[in-house]
Amino acid sequence: ALCKERGFELVLVEPDEIAAALTPEVAVLMLTHVNYRTGAMHDMPAVTAAAHAAGALMLWDLAHSAGAVPVDLTGAGADYAVGCGYKYLNGGPGAPAFVWVNPRHTDRFWQPLAGWWGHATPFAFTPDYQPAPGITRYQCGTQPMISLAALDCGVDTVLAAEALGGMAALRRKSLALTDLFISLVDERCQGHGIGLATPLDHAQRGSQVCLTKDDGAYAIVQALIARGVVGDYRAGDAGQHKDILRFGFTPLYIGFEDVWHSVEHLKQVLESGEWQRAEFNQKHAVT
Ligand SMILES: *Cc1c(COP(=O)(O)O)cnc(C)c1O
Repeated sequence: ALCKERGFELVLVEPDEIAAALTPEVAVLMLTHVNYRTGAMHDMPAVTAAAHAAGALMLWDLAHSAGAVPVDLTGAGADYAVGCGYKYLNGGPGAPAFVWVNPRHTDRFWQPLAGWWGHATPFAFTPDYQPAPGITRYQCGTQPMISLAALDCGVDTVLAAEALGGMAALRRKSLALTDLFISLVDERCQGHGIGLATPLDHAQRGSQVCLTKDDGAYAIVQALIARGVVGDYRAGDAGQHKDILRFGFTPLYIGFEDVWHSVEHLKQVLESGEWQRAEFNQKHAVT
């Protein structure tokens, strides 16, 4: 809606089409750093440089990155980033989202959802809108304090890992967890048509593993949830995307034993045909 209002055209492209799509008309390249569907991670410095070389600004969506993989927006020279607080930052469902703006841009515009907390003098109650200097201008209305308090605990938990090696240590554990999951599925779940959508190359992997299956992916995820293994399902399409069973690995509190048990549950669900039960084949609003 915003693009239409401002006279911009929104074009969706697949990852392998990005380079060709970066023509001089492109104003902004917006990408999800870790793809929600496949778990594949972009090379942030390289893609940012390519966008800049084409004269475009770079906006990263870090929903599946913050708290999961090391991110260096400043090092990459990115322009903007947004992300959510309830995935690897552990803020709980509906936790506040975040925005990052490179200091070279902060005072050059303000966001369309401007509100009184982004005002330079919110308590002056002047009739005109004067955005605050710096990042403060990107705030909207009064902050949801209860939700922020929960997010504060989630972020503190990530920060507490600083003493144990911080993000580098979390990344090492995350890769060891996803490596283990991939090799156990490969070893123990053969013969059921399970494929892997997530790259094996560490440099291209986020903190999730996405499996594919031509039929029953939704019901298998439901059967796993009933057993306490909470993954999610993403529908494929008639084209190049297959149905996805997605498993996220929060390195802070998911252990190697959890990985072993979850693959054992998957094996049992597949071998018993339990997923074919009617109760697991009813579509819910949240998949
Ligand atoms: C989860 C997710 C979000 C979340 O946005 P909210 O508005 O904070 O719920 C945004 N982008 C992507 C790619 C996501 O996966």
